[in-house]
Amino acid sequence: MLTDNHGRKINYLRLAVTDRCNLRCFYCMPPGGLDWLSRKEIMTYEEMLQSCQLLVKMGIEKIRITGGEPFVRKDIMQFLTALSKLDGLKELTLTTNGVLTAPHVPALKKIGLRSVNLSLDTLDAARFFMITLRDEFLKVMETLHELLKHDIGVKINAVVMDGKNTEDIIPLVELTKELPVSVRFIEEMPFNGDGHIYGGLQWDHIRILNEIKAKFPEIKKIADPLYSTSNNYRIPGHRGNIGIIAAYSRTFCGTCNRIRITPQGELKTCLYDDGVLNVKNLMRAGAGEVQLTDVLLKAFGERPKDGWEAERLRVEQAGVHESMATIGG
Ligand code: SAM
Repeated sequence: MLTDNHGRKINYLRLAVTDRCNLRCFYCMPPGGLDWLSRKEIMTYEEMLQSCQLLVKMGIEKIRITGGEPFVRKDIMQFLTALSKLDGLKELTLTTNGVLTAPHVPALKKIGLRSVNLSLDTLDAARFFMITLRDEFLKVMETLHELLKHDIGVKINAVVMDGKNTEDIIPLVELTKELPVSVRFIEEMPFNGDGHIYGGLQWDHIRILNEIKAKFPEIKKIADPLYSTSNNYRIPGHRGNIGIIAAYSRTFCGTCNRIRITPQGELKTCLYDDGVLNVKNLMRAGAGEVQLTDVLLKAFGERPKDGWEAERLRVEQAGVHESMATIGG
């Protein structure tokens, strides 16, 4: 079993396969996009597969593919298929914005995906355009229904943003009445590719819950799965459930079991750190399995206690403001 210097189990890798995205959610990146990484700068599928293979051997049991938008990278299905065959991997899943996903759903089912996180901040097409700068709402809804049709579990991720989509909180909760989905409201984080715009958190997890409680006073707390980052609830009579993720308040660091690898191969042992080593560079410099295992174990042995400590260190060292697309949300 892999553990860190605070006794926390590490068994979950989030791998961002690209920084590119076909939406321009304002809380994630500037309207003109990012300064995209070149092909040479990002890990090849071969490098990713090799890294995953090693990490699974070391104790990683679950891998989430994210980005950027995974489905904008060419041949992503071949990569997912290869990953799904990794010996020892217990769960493969992914996070997508749903724009290009619907046609791939049967293949995702075939390779054994049991659940997908679908990002959807609003159920209103006009607000969707305002948030994402792209007119793709219907394609995302198609993906949602296609996933449910194929009996793949869906967790909807909705970032709650003051003045942008708070009127969607109740309609999104109401979606759980008829559909067996988990709707998770996420506190907005300062990862918009331009640190100057973030105006501070207006809707924290407590305010989000109070908003839901005002309309659904019968809401009930349910047990949170092991390592869950969300506080979970159910409304009696609803098929789905609700989660609230204190992504900014960072109330879940004490049980954090996850690490991340960015598209350029940077290992992050905390969402809020600045990257602790570069797997791709090490591999390209000729590091073999033994050397890689050593440096990875050292990094896992030096994890910050929580996201506050990681952020403090990061600002002291670099003061960088990143986009979630380059981190791998
Ligand atoms: N393109 C995929 C998608 O949209 O689901 C995967 C990558 S996206 C960066 C992953 C998740 O990060 C999305 O659910 C998105 O809403 C979330 N995210 C991005 N920027 C965020 C921010 N500033 N605060 C909170 N969540 C954010």
